[in-house]
Amino acid sequence: QGGENNEGGYAYYSEEMSRNKLDLLRIETGLMHAFEYDELLLYYQPKVDMHTGIVTGAEALVRWQHPERGLLLPGEFIPIAEETGLIVQLSDWVLNAVCTQARAWKEAGLPPVRIALNITAREFTRSLPDRVRAAMSRYQLDGEWLELEITESMLMHGTDRVIAIMEMVCNLGLTISLDDFGTGYSSLSYLKRFPINTLKIDRSFTMGIPEDTNDCAIASAIIGIAKQLRHKVIAEGVESEQQLQFLKDAGCDELQGYLFSPPVPAQKFHEMLMSGKRLELSSDKNAGGVA
Ligand code: C2E
Ligand code: MG
Ligand code: MG
Ligand code: MG
Repeated sequence: QGGENNEGGYAYYSEEMSRNKLDLLRIETGLMHAFEYDELLLYYQPKVDMHTGIVTGAEALVRWQHPERGLLLPGEFIPIAEETGLIVQLSDWVLNAVCTQARAWKEAGLPPVRIALNITAREFTRSLPDRVRAAMSRYQLDGEWLELEITESMLMHGTDRVIAIMEMVCNLGLTISLDDFGTGYSSLSYLKRFPINTLKIDRSFTMGIPEDTNDCAIASAIIGIAKQLRHKVIAEGVESEQQLQFLKDAGCDELQGYLFSPPVPAQKFHEMLMSGKRLELSSDKNAGGVA
């Protein structure tokens, strides 16, 4: 049956199947406890301006400090949370945790830095603007502290309704990024109709730069579309100097990736902001000879 699990190849083996079912159940009950016992936490991966090297914001990425299995990445529990409906509770937790953190940074005297939340299709409903508004007032935060990352698939569901939701969110001062851009099934004509601020080039394209000419072409094309539509464009998963150089030459605005920093705990991100850590633009022709 559909939705059994996503590793289709294993589905034929009943032993594997029951093992997976057990795993699923174990993760589901474990996740219910995770809220109670405070086992979830957020890491922050900085976004940096490619031309100034300055940190412009961060993406909040959820982790689960599992009592037996150690630090779990979202790939191991988000799909299960989605399947079981626990994603609703998880999303609320993430929104509150991000706002709590942003509030602490605000009180520490930091100027606003946008923290992006990943929003699943399931939470992209009329109640989303209300939830965001309520959190902003509870934590006394302006919209410039927050950003939403949504995926292309969300643009296809009930267009007018989705536009209305996005506009409400934008009116609160948030920005919206289109995550994993280029991997989903969507028509380019959607792009002009939605209030999107940023296109996020998926890591699968960044990975192939500079060797794979197709990936290079796709990345350049996405940057071109973003420029034409006056959207900002950011590349995810940037790991090498060559990728940085290529993307920069192609006109990409920002990057996220191990080259600058992996996702880090809140304290570490705070220190990064305090110390003014910058992307080294060593491959810059101007900076080349300077000691
Ligand atoms: P995403 O939003 O596309 O996030 C980017 C993923 O790429 C993150 O994985 C990040 O750690 C990883 N990454 C970043 N830079 C690099 C790099 O240079 N090289 C490599 N190899 N990987 C890099 P992570 O944290 O495992 O998150 C996976 C996905 O889980 C995210 O993909 C996002 O879709 C989802 N996710 C994470 N946190 C949340 C959340 O709070 N709510 C929801 N609904 N989904 C979340
Ligand atoms: Mg994301
Ligand atoms: Mg992404
Ligand atoms: Mg991605």
